[in-house]
Amino acid sequence: MALIVHKYGGTSMGSTERIRNVALRVAKWVRAGHQLVVVPSAMSGETNRLLGLARELAPTPTSAAAERELDAIAATGEQVSVGLLALALQAQGLDAVSYAGWQVPIATDSAFTKARIERIDDTRVRADLAAGKVVIITGFQGIDGQGNVTTLGRGGSDTSAVAVAAAMKADECLIYTDVDGVDTTDPRIVPEARRLASISFEEMLEMASLGSKVLQIRSVEFAGKYRVPLRVLSSFTPWDIAIDEEARSGTLITFEEDEKMEQAVVSGIAFNRDEAKITVMGVPDRPGIAYQILGPVADANIDIDMIIQNVSHDGKTDFSFTVHRNDYAKTLDLLKSKVAPATNAAQVLGDPKICKVSIVGIGMRSHVGVASKMFRTLSEEGINIQMISTSEIKTSVVIDEKYMELAVRALHKAFELEQPVPAA
Ligand code: ADP
Ligand code: ASP
Ligand code: MG
Repeated sequence: MALIVHKYGGTSMGSTERIRNVALRVAKWVRAGHQLVVVPSAMSGETNRLLGLARELAPTPTSAAAERELDAIAATGEQVSVGLLALALQAQGLDAVSYAGWQVPIATDSAFTKARIERIDDTRVRADLAAGKVVIITGFQGIDGQGNVTTLGRGGSDTSAVAVAAAMKADECLIYTDVDGVDTTDPRIVPEARRLASISFEEMLEMASLGSKVLQIRSVEFAGKYRVPLRVLSSFTPWDIAIDEEARSGTLITFEEDEKMEQAVVSGIAFNRDEAKITVMGVPDRPGIAYQILGPVADANIDIDMIIQNVSHDGKTDFSFTVHRNDYAKTLDLLKSKVAPATNAAQVLGDPKICKVSIVGIGMRSHVGVASKMFRTLSEEGINIQMISTSEIKTSVVIDEKYMELAVRALHKAFELEQPVPAA
C-alpha cells in the first residue's frame, strides 16, 4: 500500500462528466490498495470568471484590502470542485471527505494573490486516511495567521499538491493535466513537440520559471526541497488503463542526473508573454545607482527579472529590466513619480509588448556554441534580440511579442527537438 497524491487541473475537472471520470480513476487506485489524497483545481475557466467579476467592480485592485477580497473570491472555485469530486467518489461507493485549505489547515503567509505555504497540519488527513477515506483538499488556497483565506498565485494547485505530498511524505505525487506530460515545448504552439519521458529537476525548475506553465514554479521548488517523487501525466487516458502502465506514463521529474541525459544539449524551449520591459534613460553612472532604481521597486514587492545596464556615455547610462506585466503600470508609475526625480533620470520608457524565449538543457554545461546557434537561428528569421541573459543551463532572449511563435518554432526545429534523441 502506498500513499499517493493526485492533482487534477482545471480541464481535467472541467465538467461533471470529467469529474466522474476523475472519480473512476481515483477509485481504481483506491481499489488497488492505495491511500489517496486528491487535490483538484477549480473547473476550467472558473478562476478567470471569478476574477473577471471582481475586475468589473475593481478594475485595478492594488491595496492589500482589495487583494484580500480577490483571494476570498478566487478561492471559491476550488471549494466547488472538492465538493463535487467528493460526491462523485461517494457515488462510486467510496468514503470520501473534502476540505478547504483552512480546514486542513494549510497555513500560508499573508501575501494575498501570491501567498507561500508555511506549514501543513496533516493530523486530520491522516486520521481520515486511516479510517479508509479518500481525502480531497482544495488546491490553490490556504489560510494566513490572521484567519484570512489566501491564494497561492495562478497555477497554484500544483504547489498545493506537492506541498501536501511533502508534508505527508507521500510515495508519489501525480500531476494529472490536459497534455501527455512535460513536452519539449508547449504543444499548443508547436504541435510536433515531443513528450520527455523524464526531465531533471534543475531543467524543470528552469522551464517553469521561464514560463512553461505545465507546473507552477513553486511546486517544483517544493519537490526539490523535500525530494517529492513527481510525475506529470495525462488525465485523458482511459480511466481504466492498467495502474502499472499509468504509473509509468507521462514525465518523471528526476533528482539525479543520469548519463543518458547528457545527449540532449537542449531539452526544451520555454516562453513567457507575461513580462514587460522598462528602461530608465540617462541616469548618472555612479556607485549605488542600481540600488537607487531597483531598491524602491523591490520595496514595493515587485519581482524583477532580467536586468541590463548599458555602457556609460558622458557619465550617464541607461538601465533596462523586466517585470511581470501585472506589475507594469505600478512599476512605471513608481519610477516616473519617485525614482526619476531622485536620480535625475532623463526619461522612463516602457514596453509591455515583449516576450521572453528560452532554451533549457543541462547538456549546455558541456557544450559550447549553443547560445550562438540560438542567436543565428533568430537572426535568420529576422528577429531582433532586445535583451539576453544566460546561466549554466539556459539562455533567454527578450524579443518583440509578435515574433514569439515564429521564434519558438524555429528554435524547436533548429535544435531538432521533434526528433527522438539518438541512442548512445
Ligand atoms: P492544468 O489545468 O492541468 O493545471 P495548465 O493549463 O496549468 O493545466 O498546464 C498545462 C498546459 O501547459 C498545457 O495545456 C500546455 O499548453 C502548457 N505547456 C506549456 N509548456 C509546456 C510543456 N513544455 N509541456 C507540456 N505542456 C506545456
Ligand atoms: N484555479 C487556479 C488557477 O486557475 C489554480 C490552478 O488551476 O492551479 O490559477
Ligand atoms: Mg496548472
